Amino acid sequence: MKKNNRILILFFSVAVICMMLIFRLFYIQLVRGPFLTHESFLQKTSGVGEKVRGQIFDRNGKPLTGTYSSSYAIISPNWLTLSEKQLLVKENILNSIDDDDAKNISVTHENQEVLYNLKDKTPGIFIYNKNIRYGPTALATHVVGFEGETGIEKTFDSFLSSNIESRYVYNDGLGQPIAGLALNEQVAKTWGVKLTIDKDLQKIVEDVMDKSIESGAVVVIEPKSGEILAMASRPNYKQFQLEQYLNQENAPLINRAVESYAPGSIFKIVILSAALEEKLTQLNEVFYCSGFEKVGDNIFKCSSYERGGHGELTLKDALAFSCNSVFIQLGIRLGKDKILEYASLFGLGEKTLIGLPEEKEGNLPSKDEVFCQDLGNLSIGQGAIGITPIQAAQIILTIVNDGVTKKPILIKEVIDQDGNTPVFKLSDEKPERILSAETAKKVRESLEAATEYGTGESANPQNNRRVGGKTGTAEIENQISHAWFVGYYPADAPELVMSVFVEHGGSGSATAAPIFKEIIERISVIR
Ligand SMILES: [Zn+2]
Repeated sequence: MKKNNRILILFFSVAVICMMLIFRLFYIQLVRGPFLTHESFLQKTSGVGEKVRGQIFDRNGKPLTGTYSSSYAIISPNWLTLSEKQLLVKENILNSIDDDDAKNISVTHENQEVLYNLKDKTPGIFIYNKNIRYGPTALATHVVGFEGETGIEKTFDSFLSSNIESRYVYNDGLGQPIAGLALNEQVAKTWGVKLTIDKDLQKIVEDVMDKSIESGAVVVIEPKSGEILAMASRPNYKQFQLEQYLNQENAPLINRAVESYAPGSIFKIVILSAALEEKLTQLNEVFYCSGFEKVGDNIFKCSSYERGGHGELTLKDALAFSCNSVFIQLGIRLGKDKILEYASLFGLGEKTLIGLPEEKEGNLPSKDEVFCQDLGNLSIGQGAIGITPIQAAQIILTIVNDGVTKKPILIKEVIDQDGNTPVFKLSDEKPERILSAETAKKVRESLEAATEYGTGESANPQNNRRVGGKTGTAEIENQISHAWFVGYYPADAPELVMSVFVEHGGSGSATAAPIFKEIIERISVIR
């Protein structure tokens, strides 16, 4: 019995070990097989492999980086005949006929003829294409940013960096490359981050900015979806010459669309909305402007100061003509608490979280920081308050959407290496009603008065469609003012809202509104 037991145990042990080995073999061959084959391939290939980085696309899947393809040649002298070597020596590609070192050179205008002629005759020359990520035609350079450093390239760096390598050349084991094998070349064309940007609109915006301004930002949003169709900053830079721009005084690497600046009179939209919503006034209430307003010890001038003031005017006309006196009176009627409450409801003082690491939250002073005499400044968007061009667009977005705030969106979807589109969310905030539809409608009526006969007249496109909007001229101590225009198009059924910011551009109506007009005119041709 004892002996039989031992045999039984031995038999079972052997059986179990055999099962484990069979399972292991099965695992290696079937489960790990494809991976190990790939690994062994990589171990044998020579060093022209490169990591495939995910792309950054516009809403229609067109790359925004200006990526282009450049040709390179691998030359293995040991595979060449004497006459082929002599030809390459003559072309300065080989140093001498005894030069045995393998080479990886870029195909140029000068050497391409001889290389392409030889490539089909000998395995010693192999030509392959390599993608150059940043090209001279790149758009939205401040949004896209630079690999791992800024913009979307930074936010999604770990997603866009991959372990997939593209390898072109197989090593024969004697140190000589053999031409012809490529891995994963196709993958790079389909995966990455798809933005809401529309490449055609972006191009129009950038062309108009290049022509008209040195420094500033433009943001264009589709009101229904909140999707950002264009976002550009100037001065511009070239990603492939990054180091040239690092220490320039005008800071071309800064994305001015997400930097904070004094809003000036575009802030009057917030004051008007708050006063109407709180039922403290009506559009037809008549105010009086004597050309200046005294708050505490401070005197605030209206633009009409030199000609003795606007005199009597309705609230609607006060917005249309951007009367400082009336808006200071209105701001005092509202009080600092209500002003700051509504500014915050409009999203000021906090990031929109569109996905850009450089985004600033702007500045909304706290209640304790605003004293009686500061109320004059606050009512006309001067002093401590700071907003970003993307926040400025968000204000107008809320007015156009009948009083419902909507967070702007920049990321449309992410596409992984297998072509899947996992759900990706930067912010969970739901649209929120902050004004009644009736208030929003009255604000639009005033903004359309501003473009019809007020300070925004120069924003009208020459295509018989009406627009609505507000100018802003933010005074900066001892410097030229910043110019703003925020508006929407067309007035009867808005398809676009836009903020235009011109750093030290002077007056909003002279500098910013005409840029809005030109962009609208050019966009309306293609849409
Ligand atoms: Zn006035």
